[in-house]
Amino acid sequence: MSNLRTVAVIGGGISGLSTAYALHEWAAAAGISIRCTVVDASPVWGGKIVTHQVGDLVTEAGPDSFLSQKPAGLELCDKLGLSNQLINTNETSKRACVYSRGRLHELPEGLVVIVPGQLGPFLRSGLLSWAGIARMGLDLAVPAKRSPEDESLAAFFRRRVGRQAFERMLEPLMAGIYAGDAEQMSVQATFPRFVELEQQYGSVIRGMMTARKASSSAKHSGPKRTMFVSLKNGLSDLVAALVHRLTDQGITFRGGCAVDALRVRSHQLGRWTYDVILNDGSALSVDSLVLATPAYVSAELVRPLTPIAGGLLEMIPYASTATIAMAYPRAAVSGAAEGFGFVVPRAEGRDLIAATWTSLKWPHRAPPDQLLIRCYVGGVGREAILQLDDQALVARVRAELASMCGVTAEPGYVEVNRWMKAMPQYTLGHLERLNQIEAALSRYGGLVLTGAGYRGVGIPDCIRDGAIAAERVVRYLSGERS
Ligand SMILES: Cc1cc2nc3c(=O)[nH]c(=O)nc-3n(C[C@H](O)[C@H](O)[C@H](O)COP(=O)(O)OP(=O)(O)OC[C@H]3O[C@@H](n4cnc5c(N)ncnc54)[C@H](O)[C@@H]3O)c2cc1C
Repeated sequence: MSNLRTVAVIGGGISGLSTAYALHEWAAAAGISIRCTVVDASPVWGGKIVTHQVGDLVTEAGPDSFLSQKPAGLELCDKLGLSNQLINTNETSKRACVYSRGRLHELPEGLVVIVPGQLGPFLRSGLLSWAGIARMGLDLAVPAKRSPEDESLAAFFRRRVGRQAFERMLEPLMAGIYAGDAEQMSVQATFPRFVELEQQYGSVIRGMMTARKASSSAKHSGPKRTMFVSLKNGLSDLVAALVHRLTDQGITFRGGCAVDALRVRSHQLGRWTYDVILNDGSALSVDSLVLATPAYVSAELVRPLTPIAGGLLEMIPYASTATIAMAYPRAAVSGAAEGFGFVVPRAEGRDLIAATWTSLKWPHRAPPDQLLIRCYVGGVGREAILQLDDQALVARVRAELASMCGVTAEPGYVEVNRWMKAMPQYTLGHLERLNQIEAALSRYGGLVLTGAGYRGVGIPDCIRDGAIAAERVVRYLSGERS
């Protein structure tokens, strides 16, 4: 029998590409030979990662950065020789705001992690009333929850820091990342760190303060990174570098080929051959298969193998959103835009989820005489706006900017990017559902799911999960049940 094992990775977004990259590493470590094919319905690799270069403007249709605190993103950039392309956010104007009750309020640095870096500006910002601040401080005294049951993001933070701090400050920062509804989101699946802090320190604030002290006294090697980082010419460079490296490693790419169906055959107890049926009428037969497609696509593919897994996967909802990039002559908007931009609490009932002053936040995104803005709309319960055509959508977004921060000028460049069913929602019970999906798929050794739909939507989460998927495949192919 040949020692060559065959693997197909379906989905060439960051999850699938990272899986293919890690497969090569794990296979080399295990001393097995793998022939890997990556298949994607789109002829363009990278999935949600889409950078546009328009004249001197660099716009990101999807993600525009990733968290540096989760190491998988930086590590992958390092392995691909991209470290010298990494850029920090602009240190000179790192103010972020929240829109609340008719005006923008400054969020002090560090607020993203609940404990403000500087207490003075936070107290003076007027974002919270004195009663709201006092209630937030009660987090130090409110006893930790005993039951291990999942809780919504909203219920968790209302219980810990009170309604006002949650609605005006944390909801837009946290639920906004998922374009989700905090009343439905699982805190355990989206922000497990806060649950751990509550359990360990009896208080989220105390836990955050302890963690901050520990991290500021820890020695950091390497260049200083801001909380979010990006690549100088856009995140598509990460995709291009991955595709280049994988091609060099002999991995086959089949773009513009949707997988229509899966079949499975067994010729030995516990061992399977997966037949991947492509929409061009061809088929691939492989020993192991990674589905790095959105959960609702994977649901249809696995349904004939296990209707239970198919049904559970289908229960992971996805929200639709749009990003609207607009470039203005800098002089026409002077004074209106400062810092990095602002987020908008759901309770405000506005169309905008957030707006980023892209060219103030990042260097190299627009020439100095222009201001590049990116607005974010849609999300759970707010998707009706996506029914508008581009012209009407842009008019609505411009009206929001005019009333919220006085940007009334005519943009010189406008770009609308729609993301239908793009953002997975980790609703209450998500982690339990994942366990059930694993159990339902357990008889199909070598069939592994990865992607944003399961254990983290951020780019570093997807890279890390792809590496775990690759490890599972290699263990299976080398004969060890994972
Ligand atoms: C607007 C927006 C902004 C975001 N901002 C950030 C950010 O700033 N930072 C951050 O870290 N994250 C951000 N995210 C989240 C992050 O970009 C995504 O979670 C991540 O890129 C998803 O990667 P993925 O590979 O799991 O899925 P995808 O990128 O969706 O890739 C799945 C792939 O599967 C393919 N496919 C689907 N069906 C089939 C089929 N039948 N056959 C073959 N192929 C198929 C698709 O074509 C696609 O290429 C953002 C997401 C969006 C939408």
